[in-house]
Amino acid sequence: MGFQMGLPANFVKAIPRIERILRYTEAHLDIRYPVNIDRIIEKLIIEVEVKPFVEDVLEGYCLPGDSRGLGRKIVVNANKPVEVRRMAKAHELHHLLEHQKDLPLYSHIGQVDRILEKEANFAAAYYLVPGKCIALCEEWKSGTYQELAEKLDVPVDLVIKRYDIYLEMKQWRTGLDLLNP
Ligand SMILES: [Zn+2]
Repeated sequence: MGFQMGLPANFVKAIPRIERILRYTEAHLDIRYPVNIDRIIEKLIIEVEVKPFVEDVLEGYCLPGDSRGLGRKIVVNANKPVEVRRMAKAHELHHLLEHQKDLPLYSHIGQVDRILEKEANFAAAYYLVPGKCIALCEEWKSGTYQELAEKLDVPVDLVIKRYDIYLEMKQWRTGLDLLNP
């Protein structure tokens, strides 16, 4: 199967579940505004706490709750700027929903050598940067990554990551992967 290229396989498998959550929570219907990540988390009955961390390298972590999923919690570092806190919420949400058996994970979002961190970062990009925004950006050839990042209240890296996802998904759809194995 040569069609997944740079995207982690488990992230690709999770895309339909992320799509379902976005539809269920209606958090990204109006693309003029940043995705309402708090609404998503609240609708999934997950608690959020924002507090200053002693160890400042960490953006956030999550607590898995009990066997029935009660008491699930996302804890975010209040010392980080708002766009990083938003990314951390989406990142930790993915850990909670997809990596239960590996929790708790106390790792830095920048630890991209770890596959679970990589997956959570792609998921954060998928949650917080609507595909429609990327498509419009490409169509109009106007607006930069930085402008879109500011509009969506996310770090610019996340916009770039979402653009990579967009390009790869576009390629699956057009079947170009068959010509470019
Ligand atoms: Zn993580």
